[in-house]
Amino acid sequence: MAWAFYVEHYTNTTQACRDNKYTWRHANGSIFIGTGEDAGNDAEPLGIFYPRGATLGGSTQVNGMCFTLPPDSQWDELATLTGDSSWNSTRHGFDGYIHPGLRDVLGSVYEALGQSKPNSTADLINRVGRDMNRLDPTRYDHSDLYTMVIDQNADHVRTGARDYIIDTLQATYANGSRRYPGLTISTQSFATKVLFANKTTGPARPRATGVEYILKLSGIGPREELEQHNIPVVVDLPAVGQNLQDTYEGGITVEAAQDFTTLFTNCTFGNPGDPCLAEFQLNHTGPYTIGSAWAALLFRSSVATTPDTDIYAYGASASIFSGFYEGYAEAQAPPSTFWWSLVKMRPQGRGSVTLRSADPFDTPVINFDYFANEGGVHDLQALTDAVEFLLPAMNNTAGGYAPFTIIAPEPSVSIEQGIKDFAFGHHCTGTCAMGPANSSSSCVDSQLRVLGVDGLRVVDASVFQEAMGAFPVLPTFMLSQKAAGVILGDL
Ligand SMILES: Cc1cc2nc3c(=O)[nH]c(=O)nc-3n(C[C@H](O)[C@H](O)[C@H](O)COP(=O)(O)OP(=O)(O)OC[C@H]3O[C@@H](n4cnc5c(N)ncnc54)[C@H](O)[C@@H]3O)c2cc1C
Repeated sequence: MAWAFYVEHYTNTTQACRDNKYTWRHANGSIFIGTGEDAGNDAEPLGIFYPRGATLGGSTQVNGMCFTLPPDSQWDELATLTGDSSWNSTRHGFDGYIHPGLRDVLGSVYEALGQSKPNSTADLINRVGRDMNRLDPTRYDHSDLYTMVIDQNADHVRTGARDYIIDTLQATYANGSRRYPGLTISTQSFATKVLFANKTTGPARPRATGVEYILKLSGIGPREELEQHNIPVVVDLPAVGQNLQDTYEGGITVEAAQDFTTLFTNCTFGNPGDPCLAEFQLNHTGPYTIGSAWAALLFRSSVATTPDTDIYAYGASASIFSGFYEGYAEAQAPPSTFWWSLVKMRPQGRGSVTLRSADPFDTPVINFDYFANEGGVHDLQALTDAVEFLLPAMNNTAGGYAPFTIIAPEPSVSIEQGIKDFAFGHHCTGTCAMGPANSSSSCVDSQLRVLGVDGLRVVDASVFQEAMGAFPVLPTFMLSQKAAGVILGDL
């Protein structure tokens, strides 16, 4: 169902090894997860676990279901960048949902935002429950609290790309005949390269005739890198594999002076006799109808580059989310825990994806180069601002929860160092960026056509020149919908 990639967060190996989520393999094949200090001399560095969905529906089948519309300004910027006004902003929206047990903690965050504390649970639900994806172009223009939106259907079951594909496959006309009889889905298939034919008419450009996967292995990419691996160059396209970015997440984890009671208090998370699972399976009701994080905060850092807020923080009590390593989903937290994940929107840092070899079954070298260069320094400052805003706000929490013991960012080092040691991501985008055809940073044009060849389009999260909002799924769905229209328009 999922592939286990390992990526590098840092080019600086000393910094990379400070992360206690780093994975190593010992000579005897055993796996160790922890900092370099503790890994042992025979340990080979694998990197940071980076899962990706490998099933119908892709990563939407294994993801956290956070479903957020990016700021309208980002679609408008794409329109300006490509000169194609059809990318101008469009809109969508869902209803929110909140568990009232968060009132005390969120009350102090409201105060830190300069707003009044909710005067009742109903008031909190009313204020936090506003739709974050509402039809309002100003929804990102100030710091405020929301409820997280997740992509689920009326039965509170995960929904998305997989269901859409299956519904399309099974669609029928009124007489029962299949609507798309020529459509098949090939599962258990691994594509290895794009096949090209030389055209006999028109300009002499290679034309894709079939897809066996990725661009570089098919000869589309930076010439020097392709030649290093003896891959015949079809098109020298330097943008392929560049501009890698992640809406990386710094985090706050604290332990309160007393336990939180939440909807999940009696759940055993799939272990035998789980009453919450039984309720969900029987009635599609109960705690498992909501996501693990309920609170969402839009926050403007001191380095925001546009009028939009640039940090999306989501959090919850009595649980924990500290990033990815094998077994991360099993992590259990004491009921006194509260965590915030701080997502950097519009990250300025950039990494790359390069070939390890010409073997399509070999994973590429993926290095996000976190917090490097001017862009990375900007990102680190934005995350630091969010930590500096939230920690004092948390410590003003009423109801006996404060003072909090800080677990992350690690209090024995500076906030910046603590963020560096903790940060993680799972929203990679940008390695085949859409842009003007005459720019060396572009990989596809505004019609998603790969530059320099005919008959080949890229339709996935890699075409976003800049990470869209905090979470890529909704913008990727919007992109796919638009691509369908563009492709049909060409027929
Ligand atoms: C654990 C996790 C949690 C996440 N949480 C969220 C979240 O809460 N909200 C959010 O918005 N985003 C989240 N994301 C990210 C989001 O799911 C992805 O960014 C998004 O699905 C990317 O869409 P995509 O179409 O570009 O790629 P994917 O959804 O990854 O789809 C790629 C598909 O291509 C297939 N494929 C790849 N190579 C080949 C090949 N050679 N041959 C055949 N098939 C191939 C894969 O199997 C997969 O099915 C999360 C991701 C993960 C892994």
